[in-house]
Amino acid sequence: MDCKEVQKLFIPFIDDQLDLKELEGFLQHIEECKECREEYEVYYTLIMGMRYLEEDASKGGNWTAPAEKLQYAEDYLFKCHILKWEKLTILLILCIGIIFLF
Ligand SMILES: [Zn+2]
Repeated sequence: MDCKEVQKLFIPFIDDQLDLKELEGFLQHIEECKECREEYEVYYTLIMGMRYLEEDASKGGNWTAPAEKLQYAEDYLFKCHILKWEKLTILLILCIGIIFLF
């Protein structure tokens, strides 16, 4: 993923609309590219600030810092990977079970 592609994904990322593959590429790039990370933080703050102002101030309690949002996404991705491995392990155990049965 290059900088242009990553910058197109800022808004979908903020809205949690990236699929796993996009999210993985996005996070990887943000971690390595200082420019995009800075851009993302500015973008994020701007968009969240605008939404905060549009919303009723009394219910605008769920403000997440841009770095925190990245951390959540990383955790989410990590959990997805573990789930994938769990599924594979279960499948493997099932296969071995079937082989031993016959
Ligand atoms: Zn970049």
